[in-house]
Amino acid sequence: MNAETVRRQGTLEIKTFSKGREVKRLVECPFCCHTFDDHDPQWKHFLEEHDPENAGLTPLGDGGKSQSPLFEPMDEIPGEFPIQSNNDYRPVAARSD
Ligand SMILES: [Zn+2]
Repeated sequence: MNAETVRRQGTLEIKTFSKGREVKRLVECPFCCHTFDDHDPQWKHFLEEHDPENAGLTPLGDGGKSQSPLFEPMDEIPGEFPIQSNNDYRPVAARSD
């Protein structure tokens, strides 16, 4: 199946097929402008040529601020309603009805 249109957006090649289906392919490394061939394993380039710092991440082996919580503690959740007490939580075997 041939694409109806092929366009380039940044480092992506976007092929649009019939019914509007799009296939996006990374054709150029966003960090060093290396051009990928059609069957070039892109993961290998990233693994061998780049470090996490290239993508703004912490260096390998550096856990960053992993000891701190992801979210600030919340005293109350907005929109939450108090749980109504329901005393009819007897085991099924204890019910006589
Ligand atoms: Zn690169």
